[in-house]
Amino acid sequence: MEKIQMTTPLVEMDGDEMTRILWKMIKEELLLPFIDLKTEYYDLGLKHRDETSDQVTVDSAKATMKYGVAVKCATITPNAARMTEYDLKEMWKSPNGTIRAMLDGTVFRAPIVVKGIEPCVRNWKKPITIARHAYGDVYKNTEMVIPGPGKVELVYTAEDGTTQRELVHQFTGAGVAQGMNNLDASIESFARSCFEYALSTKQDLWFATKDTISKKYDHRLKDIFSEIFEAEYKEKFEIAGITYFYTLIDDAVARIMKAEGGFIWACKNYDGDVMSDMVSSAFGSLAMMTSVLVSPHGYYEYEAAHGTVQRHYYKHLKGEETSTNSVATIFAWTGALRKRGEMDGNTALCEFADHLEKATLSTIENGKMTKDLALITTLPNPTVLNSRDFILAIREELEKLM
Ligand code: NAP
Ligand code: MG
Repeated sequence: MEKIQMTTPLVEMDGDEMTRILWKMIKEELLLPFIDLKTEYYDLGLKHRDETSDQVTVDSAKATMKYGVAVKCATITPNAARMTEYDLKEMWKSPNGTIRAMLDGTVFRAPIVVKGIEPCVRNWKKPITIARHAYGDVYKNTEMVIPGPGKVELVYTAEDGTTQRELVHQFTGAGVAQGMNNLDASIESFARSCFEYALSTKQDLWFATKDTISKKYDHRLKDIFSEIFEAEYKEKFEIAGITYFYTLIDDAVARIMKAEGGFIWACKNYDGDVMSDMVSSAFGSLAMMTSVLVSPHGYYEYEAAHGTVQRHYYKHLKGEETSTNSVATIFAWTGALRKRGEMDGNTALCEFADHLEKATLSTIENGKMTKDLALITTLPNPTVLNSRDFILAIREELEKLM
C-alpha cells in the first residue's frame, strides 16, 4: 500500500510521562505505517522545557500560528514536587496556559461516544460539546469579608478622573461581598471562536446566561454574541444549515436533559467549569473526551482532556504492565490530521482520520478495551488489554479498513 502524502506539516507537541509513551506507540503503530507523516516537532517534555527556559513552548505556539494546526500530548504543569523530581531551574507555567494566551482561544470539549459505554442520560445519542469561556466571572474576582454595619460600593474611576458609583449593599451586620469583571475583547473572541467551531463541525450552537437577573454583566455577553452573529455569521450559518440560539441558563439545563445531543453549548467561565464536569462524567470517562483549542484567527490545537497519567507511568517505569486508555490521544491526532486535510484539500488524509476513529471505536465495540472502560462497559465479558495490545488491536481493525 502506498503511504498517504501530506503537503503541509502540522505542529507536533510531544509531552510527558505515560502519555509520552502512548504518543510514540500511536505514531509507530497507527500513523507512520500509513501516512508519510510531515510534522514540525517540538518537545514539550518537562526536561526540554527546562533546558530551553520554556522557549520551546513559545516556539511551538508560534509554529501553530504559522501552520494553523497542532496536536499536543499531555504535559506536566510543574508544582513543588516536580521542581525536585526534575531539578527545575524555575516553576515553569502551564504550557496550556502559555499557548492559550498566545493563540487567544476557547476550549471545546466533547465526549467520544461508543456503543458499550452508555451515557447515564438515556436519550443522549450524540455528543454534547461544551465551549467554555476561559476568562472572567468568579475566576477574576475581588472579595471582601464585611465585618459589620457599613456601606459597600462599586466605584469606577475613568482616566480623566470622573467616577461612576453604585451601591452594592448597605450592611446592617456582618457579611461578604465580591466584585467581578469581564472584557468586551475577550467576550468577542469567545463568541467568534464558538461561531467558527460551529461552522467547522456543522453543529448548532446554544448559548445561555442569566441575563434576566444580571441585566448588565450577563446581558453584555448576550448582546455581543448577538451583534457578532447578525453582522458576521448569520448567512454562513444559513448556508451551512445550522442554527444559533440564545436562551436562559435554566432553560438550557432543562432542555439538555431532554435533547439528543449533537450540538455545542457555549458557557460562561463558571457555568462551563461546572457543566463540563457534569457532561463528561455523564458520558463515561475523561479518557473518552476530546479537547480542542480554537482561536478566533482560525488556528486549531488538538489534545486529550486528561493529564499525563502519572500513576500508570510510575508502574511502567517499574516494569509493571499498564492498561492506559489511548483513545483521547488517538482522537487528538485524528482531529489534527482531518483539519490539516480540510485546509489542504487532502481528502485521503481526512479519510484516514475517519478510518482510524472508526477502527478505534470498533475495537471497543468488539469488546477489546483498557481497564478503565472495562469497569464501566455494558458489554458482557470485555477483554482487558494492556496499553500496547490495545493499540495493536486498533491497528488490526485499521488494516481491515485501509
Ligand atoms: P490525569 O493524568 O488525568 O490522571 C488522573 C487519573 O485519572 C489517573 O491516575 C487514572 O486513574 C485516570 N486516567 C486519566 N487518564 C487516563 C487514561 N488515559 N487511561 C486510564 N486512566 C486514566 O491527572 P493527574 O494525575 O491529576 O495529573 C498528572 C499530570 O498531568 C500532572 O502533572 C498535571 O499537571 C498534568 N495535567 C496535564 C494536562 C494537560 O496537559 N492537558 C491536563 C491535566 C493534568 P487510575 O490511576 O485510578 O487508573
Ligand atoms: Mg471543574
